[in-house]
Amino acid sequence: MGLWTPWRWRFPRRFVLLLVVVFLIYVGYHLRPATQGGVPTPPPLSAEEQAALRGREIALLSGHWGFDPGAVCDDGLSEVRVNRRLTQTTAQILRDAGAHPLLLKEYDPRLRGLRADAFLSIHSDSCISRSGFKIARWARSPHPQRDDRLVRCLRYNYWVTTGLPVDEALVTDDMRFYHAFSLLDPSTPAAIIEAGYLGGDRDLLTRRVHLPALGIARGLACFFQP
Ligand SMILES: [Zn+2]
Repeated sequence: MGLWTPWRWRFPRRFVLLLVVVFLIYVGYHLRPATQGGVPTPPPLSAEEQAALRGREIALLSGHWGFDPGAVCDDGLSEVRVNRRLTQTTAQILRDAGAHPLLLKEYDPRLRGLRADAFLSIHSDSCISRSGFKIARWARSPHPQRDDRLVRCLRYNYWVTTGLPVDEALVTDDMRFYHAFSLLDPSTPAAIIEAGYLGGDRDLLTRRVHLPALGIARGLACFFQP
């Protein structure tokens, strides 16, 4: 009796302690912030945004793909690689929302006469330590109001989602007279984005690429919403 009485009293306590530990592990696991490579992932698209994207044909041109590396930094990081990952991540988000993304190379033969619900060319900026993004439409757009709305939707949602400053002052003629614009069918709303600098925004563009991709997807959803 003397031997097993303490055990009988200790056993339930140990068992309760074990239950508490299991419970805490369970709760801790489910309350942990969702992460992507150690950084918190943003909330996904809302039901309204997904509904706006569903069934849309969206052409995404991955800047410099199939042509040249674009900007190349001292450590070998190239723009074409950054653009490609951002474009692919964006396409995946759009696909998950029920849209039909079409991925295009810089001089893709399918650009000629392309009809889509929207066209976006995705580039990144040089390796300097500056930070910011810019979005433009064709200076000779056949539907300037329509394309301005696309630019506004993209600009606002990209800004809100990434927190990057708008770098509009540096929009160049390279953007406003981007070669692909004149090839598209006039019915296709079109824009181009410089998603950030390979220098100052490197972390966002390489390690947290889900954020800029989500910003683009939200901007497109905004454009398709009435
Ligand atoms: Zn570029």
